[in-house]
Amino acid sequence: MRPLQMVDTKTQYFKIKEQVDTAVLNVMESSQFIGGKVVNDFATNLAFYNDVKYVIPCANGTDALQIAMMALDLKPGDEVITPSFTYIATVEAAALLQLKPVFVEVDMQTFCMDPEAVEKAITSKTKAIIPVHLYGHAVEMEKIMDIAAKYNLYVIEDNAQAIGCNYTFSDGKISKTGGIGHIGCTSFYPSKNLGAFGDGGAIFTNDETLAGKLQKIAAHGQSVRYYHDLVGCNSRLDAIQAAILDIKLKHLDDYIVARRKAADIYDKGFAGNKSIRIPYRAAYCNHVFHQYTLTLIDKDRAGLNKYLSEKGVPSMIYYPVPCHKQKMFAAFGGGDYQLPITDWLTERVISLPIHTELDEEQQQFIISNVLDYINSN
Ligand SMILES: *Cc1c(COP(=O)(O)O)cnc(C)c1O
Repeated sequence: MRPLQMVDTKTQYFKIKEQVDTAVLNVMESSQFIGGKVVNDFATNLAFYNDVKYVIPCANGTDALQIAMMALDLKPGDEVITPSFTYIATVEAAALLQLKPVFVEVDMQTFCMDPEAVEKAITSKTKAIIPVHLYGHAVEMEKIMDIAAKYNLYVIEDNAQAIGCNYTFSDGKISKTGGIGHIGCTSFYPSKNLGAFGDGGAIFTNDETLAGKLQKIAAHGQSVRYYHDLVGCNSRLDAIQAAILDIKLKHLDDYIVARRKAADIYDKGFAGNKSIRIPYRAAYCNHVFHQYTLTLIDKDRAGLNKYLSEKGVPSMIYYPVPCHKQKMFAAFGGGDYQLPITDWLTERVISLPIHTELDEEQQQFIISNVLDYINSN
């Protein structure tokens, strides 16, 4: 059996090595390392894939979120509503811009922002909602967009974990996550579902004015070189990464199928066990399984983590400390929140290896080790 890893980017690379190597060499021979046709072509192809009008490539997912918030002209003290149960990057960008993150509860089943909690958290200072499609499962975007329309708020989707996820509205219309809100942000960190061979990110929008502004902000506030209209930053996707991503984009739907198949095998293996809750899949989306995350109802998570690691099975806790309990947010009233569902979940979640290269033998080995521990402790 091949050794187990949380993500196997190496085996994935070797399956498309020839195409990737050629594309990288072509960039090197052109020596157009920043911007240019390769980056523009990738942006065009990604816009087509995600069914959005504009894609602004940038340096990473954290920058994408920061640039998105900068483009909305939010003022210090303005409130943005986010889940506490997310990766720190979602919220850090807001704090950096002196906005006030307002943490809301997640849904017990989906791990995603609870729309009712969002509506309750709205004040006269609220300017934006930042839903996070955690682990590859979509937030109930129809409800979020209705709330945003009702209160005249912006929606910035953090789509770093869910690229390729389809969301079905109640009228049957299907949209890709990241293309539903006013702005969508994603990351090409190597372990993400569409991963580069280094850092990368992108911003999505259907709004022409916002697109121009996002583009400007990512380029030192300029659209004409050396004429700087507003304070921006420097955030670029380099051409080598764009060349690699453009090839991997063609495989993304197959990668998602492989992840979903691996999730099906896990689901079957753990079905019926009273101590293990398998990931929920809401009918309104196709979970793209960036993570396969179990909830251990009544078993010792640290014990399982240690047992698995002794057996050569990696497992991870995403995330052990919710944002409202991070020291970073103490000054923002982090400690004052009561988010019992978030607390309950963050104490119980554990993620197993999931990626495009898992084989059945590896998965059966993982399943039997998890069950061995659960059934004897
Ligand atoms: C990975 C990730 C980010 C940040 O992306 P980087 O490219 O690492 O900056 C933001 N939000 C979520 C939910 C993520 O998983």
